[in-house]
Amino acid sequence: MSNTSKYIFVTGGVLSSLGKGLASAAIGALLESRGLRVTIQKLDPYINVDPGTMNPFQHGEVFVTDDGSEADLDLGHYERFISSPMGRNNNFTTGKIYDSVISKERRGEYLGGTVQVIPHITDEIKDSIRLASEGVDIVIVEIGGTIGDIESLPFLEAIRQFKADVGKENAIYIHLTLVPYISTAGEVKTKPTQHSVKELRSIGIQPDILLCRTQMPLSDSIKSKIALFCDVEKDAVITAKDVECIYEVPLWFHREGLDSKIEKLLNIWKGAPKLAAWKDLIERIKSPAHEVSIAIVGKYTNLTDSYKSLNEALHHGGVSNGCKVNLLYVDSETIDADNCKKLLEGADGILVPGGFGPRGIEGKIRAAKYARENKMPYFGICLGMHIAVIEYARHVAGITKAHGTEFDENTPDPIIYLMTEWYDERSDTVQKRDSQSDKGGTMRLGAYSCRLEPDTIAHNAYKEENIFERHRHRYEFNNDYKKPLEENGMRISGTSPSGELVEIVEVSDHPWFLGCQFHPEFKSSPMKPHPLFASFIKAAFEYSEKNEGE
Ligand code: GLN
Repeated sequence: MSNTSKYIFVTGGVLSSLGKGLASAAIGALLESRGLRVTIQKLDPYINVDPGTMNPFQHGEVFVTDDGSEADLDLGHYERFISSPMGRNNNFTTGKIYDSVISKERRGEYLGGTVQVIPHITDEIKDSIRLASEGVDIVIVEIGGTIGDIESLPFLEAIRQFKADVGKENAIYIHLTLVPYISTAGEVKTKPTQHSVKELRSIGIQPDILLCRTQMPLSDSIKSKIALFCDVEKDAVITAKDVECIYEVPLWFHREGLDSKIEKLLNIWKGAPKLAAWKDLIERIKSPAHEVSIAIVGKYTNLTDSYKSLNEALHHGGVSNGCKVNLLYVDSETIDADNCKKLLEGADGILVPGGFGPRGIEGKIRAAKYARENKMPYFGICLGMHIAVIEYARHVAGITKAHGTEFDENTPDPIIYLMTEWYDERSDTVQKRDSQSDKGGTMRLGAYSCRLEPDTIAHNAYKEENIFERHRHRYEFNNDYKKPLEENGMRISGTSPSGELVEIVEVSDHPWFLGCQFHPEFKSSPMKPHPLFASFIKAAFEYSEKNEGE
């Protein structure tokens, strides 16, 4: 483990949703552009061991890493902004920390001592922070929650101690706060920031840098005032202005001098950052030549954070095609035979994302049918692939009762089902399941390899034969139905290396109709838009051009 890493702790004050995850990711991008090896870790104060069981409607999407951990969606931001991949050491929760301490206590590792928050929990937190430092120059540690929350106290105490452990040139604190503009007074107010910093200092943490979320750039005199009251240097008061596009944040921070201030405080000298790629990206995002609309037919449509990575991946696909991508959220439960056309005809492509449970399934099947029959691009992800298969079986292959056992346990034609036995390449074991295992921790999670067939939409997009993509699901394509589907024009374009697990399906006589068992959205970034999203948006653009011409 490297002991030369330096640490940046990011806390948040005043209120939640100020964009701490994004700020941490943007700081990471800036430092990476100065040639530093960076990773980012999220410490979450909630009791769940991981967010795997949390409702995306309340908490936003569950992000999946290559190594198969189910993580906070902020890890998605991190991967979109920096190049080091995230893994299980990048996200710890109170639950995970306590779980580990309690297991040690049960094994007698504390030698009869009384196990307490300080030092046992705080030591466990500090060990977890060090775990992320392997092979990197900088570890950015984002503390979830807001200063003042009871549950984040052990994390704050741990990071307070950390600076003393590693020395002051190796650890700094950045506090994200709000400087609201009060229109009736016609001025911005610094009091919430003062109070938040006071709260932070009461637990022994003196921030080194303040990132001030605000609607307009802070004037010199406001910066001086904040510096004076909060005891930070004036050039450490950074305007974090609201921006149109999240990928502008690194550039804004740079203009405010944030990266050089960090380097000064941490005593690192790397010279000017290379920001041309970020500038070029913003340029392309801000001047799209075309526009397309994608209908996302799903369940959690009133909280856009539930589909965070998906939304971003669609925008990335737009960037590589010079297209602005408008997202239309359609609640699948509202789609019926009468309104289907009306709800979907304005779109240039339909995307059915991942999901769980039977709610809204028939609406999604209608959407897939509409896309297939109207030659509108269709992209089905995980559950969306199951939908594509069921729809094709029912309406093209004549298997009219085809269904998934997740939606109807007793279906006579279980075309999507729980595979009872399959080879798992990640654990190199044969996995067994029965009807009882469906509620347990039996998901196929993390990156698996997939072999692509030549001359398919998938192969044309990836231009590679073997790909690795991330999974999070239980149900699989039932190979007993391979033959009737293939005979009726469905193409299996990607499988696990042995051919046992179907990974991608396509419709042959359709310009772009594809369902994949994995979640490509987790691997897309603005600098490297995912090939399937780039290809889907291209097809949507071609569809829109054709329809305009008619
Ligand atoms: N519910 C489906 C399964 O478990 C799909 C999961 C998903 O879309 N992530 O297989």
